Amino acid sequence: MVRHWDLCLGCLACVTACPSAQYDKLLEATRAQAARATPRGRMDRLFRALIFALFPYAQPTPRVRRPTRPLPALWRSLRRAGFLQRLA
Ligand code: SF4
Repeated sequence: MVRHWDLCLGCLACVTACPSAQYDKLLEATRAQAARATPRGRMDRLFRALIFALFPYAQPTPRVRRPTRPLPALWRSLRRAGFLQRLA
């Protein structure tokens, strides 16, 4: 079950399709409990910490913005060099 909760985006688009029409309450009640009760490996914990540090905010914090600042220029360079076409 935990895999399902991990993959669910919480968009609640399925609430109207669910015969119980209670999926939103089920999600709310279960997700936190599953997070507390599920042992996770180091990489999984790190990945989840990164996701929760990045996505709740509309603007990235300076701690995240600083190391990612050169990425657009790097991306343009890779595209100009044809690396992305070769990768695909
Ligand atoms: S809330 Fe429902 S539709 Fe949305 S991601 Fe989760 S399971 Fe899928």
